Amino acid sequence: MFKSKYIHECFINSKLLLFHTLTFSYEILTGEDIVLWEKNKFDFISNKKLGKLISKLFIVEDKGSDEALLNKAITLLGNKGRLKPQFFIYVTTECNLNCPYCYQRDYKSKNITISKKHVDSVVTTIDLLSKKENKHLVIFGGEPLLPQNKQIVEYMFDRFKTIDATVEIVTNGIYLKQYDDVLSSNKQMIKILRFTLNGPKKIHNFIRDNSNFDTFSIITDNIRYVLNKYDHIQVIINFLLDKLNCDSISDLFNELEINDILGKQNCRIEFGRIQSRKHPENNFYKNELPYTEYYPVLLRTKLKDKRITDEMLIGSEVSILGKIYRQFLKKEIAIPNLKGCKAIYPGVFAFYPDGKIYPCDEIAGDVSYAIGQYYPYFMFYKEKENWSSYSVLDNEKCLKCKFIGMCNGGCLVSNLAVNGDINSPYCLDIENSLNNFLVELELEGFFNGQDYS
Ligand code: SF4
Ligand code: SF4
Repeated sequence: MFKSKYIHECFINSKLLLFHTLTFSYEILTGEDIVLWEKNKFDFISNKKLGKLISKLFIVEDKGSDEALLNKAITLLGNKGRLKPQFFIYVTTECNLNCPYCYQRDYKSKNITISKKHVDSVVTTIDLLSKKENKHLVIFGGEPLLPQNKQIVEYMFDRFKTIDATVEIVTNGIYLKQYDDVLSSNKQMIKILRFTLNGPKKIHNFIRDNSNFDTFSIITDNIRYVLNKYDHIQVIINFLLDKLNCDSISDLFNELEINDILGKQNCRIEFGRIQSRKHPENNFYKNELPYTEYYPVLLRTKLKDKRITDEMLIGSEVSILGKIYRQFLKKEIAIPNLKGCKAIYPGVFAFYPDGKIYPCDEIAGDVSYAIGQYYPYFMFYKEKENWSSYSVLDNEKCLKCKFIGMCNGGCLVSNLAVNGDINSPYCLDIENSLNNFLVELELEGFFNGQDYS
């Protein structure tokens, strides 16, 4: 009998927590069992406990068992079925705000806005790439809903009507009311309006770097307006966590309640992390909350504030931890993702006003990452193949890694930006992220009262 290689061990409060990094199950050892485990004296562990360790694959028959388990996972989960790709259409690179964490600041040398000819080419290209399906189109920027963009946005909607499409708009929400007639006349097509808040009013306005301009009040006023007027449109508020606002989650919830926003059936809060996948170790935004701390922070706040539901534990590079948490609660089955990130599967096509197509919204506008063009005519470049054929299952380093089921080969943007090679994985610190998550759960008493025998 051998210990599986897919085990993360976490010793805390005189318990040894074993976590299986492929099946995401756990087992807890205490007292003498810890010593026996550490000395590989499995035969001396009580029959009941040994049975659990074997059935949960912490102890395997031979070294080939782990390989067989990974192969089984690959067969079951590695196959890329047919899912619709995601389409992002950037109206403009221009923005009325200047958020200090904006990842587009790297390559926003001059402002460009999409033209009618570009829109025509976008529509033709999308229809070509996703012929028969209903397409979900995300209108993005810069800030797409600037007053001067109204004509081109109206034109976009007119053209979108010619293909089978639903629309999501990502906006800072400042000029939303000026677009009321556009929302109204296209309300059947618009499914999601997505806004961002950076905390309660005082902190939000401070982070947005212009405390004299009360963007919080304008945005929340406009959110309330659309919630009341367009009750079939899903409003999503992204609450981007950083070091400045992560202790003020409940304060924001209070203010959203006072503003008659929280609790509306068509409103959802989604947490996220301010991050830079292009500069994972040297983000220009200095108040970044480390991803290794992201879930502990959310769990701590959740313990104090019941308005944070289990389903809200999403976001960041290690979002698998939120799924694992819900699996622990038996609310969801967390499935190892062996297909790669969304840029690989189902695939992303980001149409930028420069006429180029990018494989991920994180690097749209950085021409060195373009995989094709849609204007003046559509073609893919040879880089397209590198992205769409990338598979964590072809990567020797990942295949040997015990965190393969949690990380799925990392981020191609980071691979390229840090290592200069799409196939050379930039590894996230999954080990510490997982450890901090398990320690936080133990500190909160999550594992207390369970059957350790
Ligand atoms: S990217 Fe790194 S951490 Fe992720 S599976 Fe590959 S080797 Fe492991
Ligand atoms: S390439 Fe990186 S930033 Fe882009 S979708 Fe994949 S993980 Fe996210």
